Amino acid sequence: MKAEIISIGTELLLGEITDTNAAYLASQLPLLGIDLHFISTVGDNKQRLIETLNHAWQRSDIIITTGGLGPTEDDITREAIAEFFQEPITIDQSLVNQFKELFKRFNMDMPESNIKQASIIPSAGVIANPRGTAPGWWVERAEHVIIAMPGPPGEMQQMWSNVVAPQLQKKYCDAIIYSKTLKTFSLSEAKVGELTRTYLLAKNPTVGIYAKPDGIHLRITAKAETLGSAEELVNKAAGEIHEILGKYIWGSDSDTLEGIIANLLITNNMNLAVIEAGTGGILANTITNIPESSKFFRYGIVINRDDLKREYGINDDIIEQYGMVSQEVACKMASAIKAKYETSFGIGLIGVTEPDELNNKLGTIVIGIENNAGKHGFKKIYPGTRMQVKQRAAIAALYELKNILTEETKCT
Ligand code: ATP
Ligand code: MG
Repeated sequence: MKAEIISIGTELLLGEITDTNAAYLASQLPLLGIDLHFISTVGDNKQRLIETLNHAWQRSDIIITTGGLGPTEDDITREAIAEFFQEPITIDQSLVNQFKELFKRFNMDMPESNIKQASIIPSAGVIANPRGTAPGWWVERAEHVIIAMPGPPGEMQQMWSNVVAPQLQKKYCDAIIYSKTLKTFSLSEAKVGELTRTYLLAKNPTVGIYAKPDGIHLRITAKAETLGSAEELVNKAAGEIHEILGKYIWGSDSDTLEGIIANLLITNNMNLAVIEAGTGGILANTITNIPESSKFFRYGIVINRDDLKREYGINDDIIEQYGMVSQEVACKMASAIKAKYETSFGIGLIGVTEPDELNNKLGTIVIGIENNAGKHGFKKIYPGTRMQVKQRAAIAALYELKNILTEETKCT
């Protein structure tokens, strides 16, 4: 089956919003074994949308639109589809009643304009929208299907996973698709690609490489007649890739580094304090994204000026000997914070995020981690913007902490 996505909205054409809906759908279609051939963008203009639908109808079996299902004048997707099929629009009274109920729950009267969202044509089936008033449309005609979903990404994604994806799977997929994502850190995309080359060329399972803020991800996807055999194909490849990439793989699927660390620290009854310079507290912020972080996260200190490091026990000798941005200084910071708050782990993190600071060291990150068994220093250099370097610094510190924690808690 050939699919096409049409993203609708003048805001997209003006560059005011980025088309994340198309990116999301493009990442989901391969899981159903559906090939995506085109993505088009069209403004809130009925005539041009009809032309785009016409074009898509001639070259694609499945046409997925997002946007333009709202109650305002510029929301024209329903009218365009009705006109394209030359079908009359009527109002579905049961939908109007549902909307009224919804507004009543929020103590509001339903505006007249919302009635438009209860429009229907004979060929369309309504797709429920649990998060808003804009229902989707599923329109089938002559072996083609047009699926219209709302623009807000949260509404669209929920509609996709609740209704659209399962329905497409039932209708068009004779095979089960199963996939697993392995998450790596510390290796470049090219290196991961080289090491896993044979898997990247394979047909079933297929392996795709994606660069993400928390490292390089590998998505392994297999197609088979039963879920069991698809899982077997994926797990076999995942096991082999584990052998190749070893400790660089830190997690899979929905794992996050902060989540893994939280589990390890909580189960082993350990805690942590951090001190960071140049990263604006991003390490503490990332760690505290975990709901149970108060169980193990004792303290986070953010300093943004070199002279302040001295306040935390870093003396001039060590700075002179090794330089302000050095593993030795980061380890000293880790040691100071660990001693001050009597934690199991102390982390010192320095990131150079100012472009002309310290002789072109932008992107340099040094990390010190200390626990009762000893100390570890790391130095890394990342290209990228200030925000990317900050984010990488936090991820790098968590990755190294995770490795130390896994190593040291192995036998317990
Ligand atoms: P609403 O009821 O909110 O008007 P709608 O279905 O009419 O929903 P639009 O008016 O086209 O959708 O878009 C509403 C908002 O949804 C946009 O302002 C934007 O924030 C988001 N949005 C729309 N299309 C996309 C897209 N392709 N990618 C990411 N976000 C989008
Ligand atoms: Mg709208």
